[in-house]
Amino acid sequence: MSKYWSEVVRTIEPYVPGEQPQVDGLIKLNTNESPYPPSPEVNRVLSQEVVDRLRFYPDPNATELRQSIARYYDLDAGYVFAGNSSDEVLAQTFMAFFQQEQPLLFPDITYGFYPVYCQLFGIESKKIPLTEDFTLGLEQYRQANGGIIFPNPNAPTGQLTPLEAIEALLVDNTESVVVVDEAYIDFGGASAVSLLERFENLLVVQTFSKSRALAGMRVGFALGNPALIEGLERVKNSFNSYPLDAIAQLAAQAAMEDRDYFDQCCRKVIATRVTTIDALVQLGFDVLPSQANFVMAKPPAHITAKHMAEKLRERKIIVRYFAKPRISDYLRISIGTDEQMQQLLVCVREILELTGVAE
Ligand SMILES: *Cc1c(COP(=O)(O)O)cnc(C)c1O
Repeated sequence: MSKYWSEVVRTIEPYVPGEQPQVDGLIKLNTNESPYPPSPEVNRVLSQEVVDRLRFYPDPNATELRQSIARYYDLDAGYVFAGNSSDEVLAQTFMAFFQQEQPLLFPDITYGFYPVYCQLFGIESKKIPLTEDFTLGLEQYRQANGGIIFPNPNAPTGQLTPLEAIEALLVDNTESVVVVDEAYIDFGGASAVSLLERFENLLVVQTFSKSRALAGMRVGFALGNPALIEGLERVKNSFNSYPLDAIAQLAAQAAMEDRDYFDQCCRKVIATRVTTIDALVQLGFDVLPSQANFVMAKPPAHITAKHMAEKLRERKIIVRYFAKPRISDYLRISIGTDEQMQQLLVCVREILELTGVAE
């Protein structure tokens, strides 16, 4: 605490990211990263082209990257905004669209950055409870609002909201911006991009951090009507005109262009998710349905989620535990490689056996 801090810095509760341990040999299943390396094309462009370019400022508009994203989604490049991580694109989105008279609506159990951005930017919010079975219950969002945001699939629950429900919400909600945060959409969901032509107040946000294996590069993007994109550009150009460095632009573009590799990695994660869920259920876990690259799993009654997380950590496997209402009985486990998940299951079985009788 310092007397020089402004009011907002004194009172804000900053987001706490999952641990990035500086220890070798851990199986890291706590922050939903890709278990596979980036496309080999990323390697190629970085070694040849990039060093020469570093004395120049990068393209402030990330034109080629945006064109490449636009091609992937069969959109005009005017529908694409690129930023230095989707967290930053979300922050710009909150600034551009959510500072309104009415509160922003988002789920009570959701991505932890939303309430932080509300505090940072002085935005009123109203949390809408997930239903009993952890679905969004979008019918509850039909009320006065200054904006709506939710991840699809939701985080950290992993459940997918069907496109028809999002479409029905958009039909009723035309006076504020609806943001669908699709950080995990590539692992089995249908993107709301297909609704962009019909709904000028829809913004879809995605990231290169999960399905495109570039969490260390920090690249995210938003897709929406050109008038919304222009709003984001006005925010960007009032803070930092060059949010994406030259290396990030090249790497992200190379990853975007390599569709075969991307499809292959997503398919592998999905297949591993299916076998992991089956195995956890066999071991007595209660697992929420997931269309993401992680699962929410509740251990059998004789051991708490927190205790299981600690015991796994002793065996060099880190998973995420949230000491929060409604989800504190669950562990969030990122989907790693088949080998990593085998290792996880061996350890889980051992922990269950060791704790089964005594506790
Ligand atoms: C991981 C995640 C992000 C952040 O992605 P970055 O591009 O790495 O900042 C945003 N939203 C949700 C729901 C996420 O899980």
